[in-house]
Amino acid sequence: MTETRDSKPILQLVGVRKTFNDLAAVEKIDLDIMEGEFFTIVGPSGSGKTTLLRMLAGMEAPSEGNITLHGARINDLPPNRRPTCLVFQSLALFPHMSVGQNIEFPLKMRGVDAAVRKARALELMAIVRLPASYYGKNVMKCSGGERQRVALARALAYDPEVLFFDEPLSAIDYKLKKVLEKELKDLHRETGKTFIYITHSLEEAMVMSDRIGVMRAGRLVQVGTPEEIYTAPADRFVGEFVGEVNVIELKRAGAAWAGVDVPGTFAAAPPADTPDATSTFVVIRPEYMRFLKDGEQADNALEGVVYNEYSLGSRIQYQVRVGDKVMLVELSRANALDAAANRNVRLGWDVRDAISVKG
Ligand code: ATP
Repeated sequence: MTETRDSKPILQLVGVRKTFNDLAAVEKIDLDIMEGEFFTIVGPSGSGKTTLLRMLAGMEAPSEGNITLHGARINDLPPNRRPTCLVFQSLALFPHMSVGQNIEFPLKMRGVDAAVRKARALELMAIVRLPASYYGKNVMKCSGGERQRVALARALAYDPEVLFFDEPLSAIDYKLKKVLEKELKDLHRETGKTFIYITHSLEEAMVMSDRIGVMRAGRLVQVGTPEEIYTAPADRFVGEFVGEVNVIELKRAGAAWAGVDVPGTFAAAPPADTPDATSTFVVIRPEYMRFLKDGEQADNALEGVVYNEYSLGSRIQYQVRVGDKVMLVELSRANALDAAANRNVRLGWDVRDAISVKG
């Protein structure tokens, strides 16, 4: 789904909090997850993602607040009475069973007839792109990516309204992960179900999600589309979590701003959401920094020395020392600095390409 505005919330959290003894693992979360949405909860280790997911899945009850499903309170409803299904990080497949038996398990539990079960298993295998010939194959003889598909097909056999994914791709190599990310996104679109996904990888979240919730120390610090999270991070933490960025601390100096750890004064970066603020952080992504030619102007400029460069494939990243600070500049290979060029450079960026954030 790409449009969340017109759909109804399926899960709503109001003031949800979870404490373990004195530790608040999740702090007062208010959140609506929409029907059919691909919602990803992202955050560093220990930020409370798993605890939040366990509450949504019914494996943990909130200490405070309410969780509702289609408007009905489900705080204490056990997992097996919820129309939801969890796809574990470890996948939790039955190792002694075949692919088909694993997928059919939920149907067998419901007493579905063997022939109907098999037909449905084969249908689900087609949906997750597993060849029908795998039906009798022992699941332990499948590769990591294939097991991932078996786990997904089994989850779909429960016919849940909501599927929860707990870091399902974390143990999979990079190349296959990229393939599976796209497949999961396709699968989401094809099934029309609500997917709630947790990961510590924002890159993974960006590729698949309709919306992302960023957690830090038990709090949901920002909820938005991948575009919003990337272009308008709520604070310095989100800005830095999104990827390699330049962050410059500025303090008010009359109409302009003075650099705290870089020399010079600068034009303020939008959004100026705190006009009376005396200090701010400015986030500039490396791809928005450029090397200024002689006489070329930019809203802001800094002098520095290029001391390292790395190939990123189609792009090149330069590390530029400015005083004690290292700034990053990324250029497409076509615009790379001439190898013989002077390494003393002027870095420039325009105010419209920078984001002002809270510390
Ligand atoms: P990770 O990415 O490492 O899995 P996470 O973001 O999922 O981390 P949680 O597992 O939700 O984070 O943990 C949040 C905090 O709550 C941590 O400080 C953790 O130690 C604590 N915590 C989680 N579960 C329990 C528990 N059952 N008892 C006590 N403390 C817990």
